[in-house]
Amino acid sequence: MPSALITGITGQDGLYLSELLLAKGYDVHGLIRGQNNPKLDLVHELLPDVQLHTGDLTDMSSLIRALRVSQPDEVYNLGAISFVAYSWENAALTTDVTGKGVLTMLEAVRLHAGDDPASVRFYQASSSEMFGKVQETPQRESTLLWPRSPYGVAKVFGHYMTINYRESYGMHASSGILFNHESPRRGPEFVTRKISQAVARIKLGLQDDVTLGNLDSRRDWGFAGDYVEAMWRMLQQDTADDFVIATGETHSIREFLDIAFRHVGIDDWASYVKQDPRFMRPAEVDLLIGDATKANEVLGWKPTVTFPQLVAMMVDADLEAQRAGW
Ligand code: GDP
Repeated sequence: MPSALITGITGQDGLYLSELLLAKGYDVHGLIRGQNNPKLDLVHELLPDVQLHTGDLTDMSSLIRALRVSQPDEVYNLGAISFVAYSWENAALTTDVTGKGVLTMLEAVRLHAGDDPASVRFYQASSSEMFGKVQETPQRESTLLWPRSPYGVAKVFGHYMTINYRESYGMHASSGILFNHESPRRGPEFVTRKISQAVARIKLGLQDDVTLGNLDSRRDWGFAGDYVEAMWRMLQQDTADDFVIATGETHSIREFLDIAFRHVGIDDWASYVKQDPRFMRPAEVDLLIGDATKANEVLGWKPTVTFPQLVAMMVDADLEAQRAGW
C-alpha cells in the first residue's frame, strides 16, 4: 500500500486530496499543527482513516519525526499561511511558514530519503499569486514571476527552492502552479465562499447584505476537487516537473455575484451588496488567466466543473448548511 504525508491536511485541498488518496488505497498521514487545533475534529469526523501527526513547517525535527512514522512514498506540501490579504499584516510570519517552511520540508525529506533522494516524491503547492503583475497573458510555466503580496513573494521562494532541490539533489520534486480553486470547503475569508454563504443567508432571511471590496477584480476560478487530481498525477510521472493548473477562463467578482444571486432567484442584487475600502488591497494582482496546456498534454488533466456549476455547487452547499443550522 503506498503511503502519503500531507501538510495542510485540515485545509480545503488537504481534505479533497486525502479523500482521493484513500480511494486509491493509500495509507494517508497528515501533519497537524498547534495545541488544541480547532480543525482536528473536522478531520477525524470526515476522514477517520487518516493518521495525524503533530508538527509544524517551521520545526524541522517535527517534520523528520512525521516522515519516520509515516514512511511516505509521496509528500504533498500544502501547508501555508494562505490568505493574501492577511499577508501584508503578517509579512514576516507568512515568509517563515509559506516560504522558508518549504525549504525546511525539502531538507527534511532529503535527509530522510538518504542515499536515494528521489525515493520520496515531493509536491509543492505553488500559486498563481506568483504571477502578480502579469508579464504575459495567459500565464504559463515559463512566464516571468512578479509577485504582488508578501504571500506571493513567499510562494516564489518555495517554488524556486523546489526546483533547486530537484536540480541540486535529483529529488523527484514537482511544483504545481495552481490558479484559484474553490469549493464548499473554501474558508469563508475568501471572496467566493464569503459570497456563497452570504447569498444563502440573504435568501433565507438570516442576513441583510454583504460588504465586499473590489468587485472588478478577476480570477481564473476552478473546482478544488479537480485540482487535487492534478497534484496526484504530477507525482505519478517518471520525471518531476512544474505545471500550471487552471481553467483558462477569467471571471469578475460581479459575475460571481450575478450567478450566485440568480441561482436563488434574485436578479437585481445591487441593494444587497455594499463596498468598503477595508476589503481593498494595497496592491492587486493583474488579470490572472492560466494556460494549462502542458498539464493537459503531459498529465492528461483538464477541469471537469464549469464556472456556473462551481458557483451553484457552493451556493447549494451553503443553503443546506444554513438550513441545517451548521
Ligand atoms: P486570492 O486570489 O487568493 O487573493 O483570493 P480571495 O478570494 O481572497 O480574493 C480574490 C479577489 O477578490 C481579490 O482580488 C480581492 O481583492 C477580491 N475581493 C473583493 N472583495 C473581497 C472580500 O470581501 N474578501 C476577499 N477575500 N476578497 C475580495
